[in-house]
Parts: sequence; C-alpha cells; structure tokens
Amino acid sequence: MDPQTARTRLEDERRDARARLSAARATLERLRTERAEAGTADDEHDPDGSTLSAEWTMAAAQCRIVEEAIAEIGAGLARVDAGSYGICASCGRPIPRARLEARPAALTCANCANCAGSQ
Ligand SMILES: [Zn+2]
Repeated sequence: MDPQTARTRLEDERRDARARLSAARATLERLRTERAEAGTADDEHDPDGSTLSAEWTMAAAQCRIVEEAIAEIGAGLARVDAGSYGICASCGRPIPRARLEARPAALTCANCANCAGSQ
C-alpha cells in the first residue's frame, strides 16, 4: 500500500474513531447527569440504578477501546511519516496488503500478531 493511500485510510479511520469517541463520551455525560438527578439511588437494589450502571460500564469500555484505537492509528500515521508503514514491527517483513486493508493500523503481520497472542 503506498504511503498516500495509507495516510488517507488511517485519517479516515481516525475520523470515524473520534466520532465514536464523542458519542461514547456524550453517553457518559448523559448518564452522569441522570445519575446526579436520581440523587441517592441505590445501584445495588434499584432496578433503574443497575440499568444505568450496565450502560455506564458499556460506554466506559467503548471509550477505552476507541481511545486505544486512536492511539494505534496515531502510531500508524507516525510510521507512514517515518517510511516504515506496512513493515512488521516484529519480524521486519512486509505486512500483507489484505491485512492492511482490513486493519490499516496493524503494526505486525498476522503471524507475529498470533504468536504474541494479541491484535
Ligand atoms: Zn511479523
């Protein structure tokens, strides 16, 4: 994948990710307000309270996931700048194009990712 295409794809991904992050943060903000309005609602025993907690947990998890994705995309863009984009950070071989298409921010080839037990 040429650097210009890679940069465009990563920037597209980052724009999407930022939109998802804003949405998740807006949800957290809304829940915070609802919780404040509910006053001293007991999360353990109030059914509405537990629903609120489950939604909160989901939105908070979503925030974390998207923040990680944005960091990963940033690292990918830095690699485009450095001229090392598309090279596996682990074994140094080119990352297959299909993998980059599916996951533009991938830092390693699928083999190394599987060995590391991540990505
Ligand atoms: Zn590799």
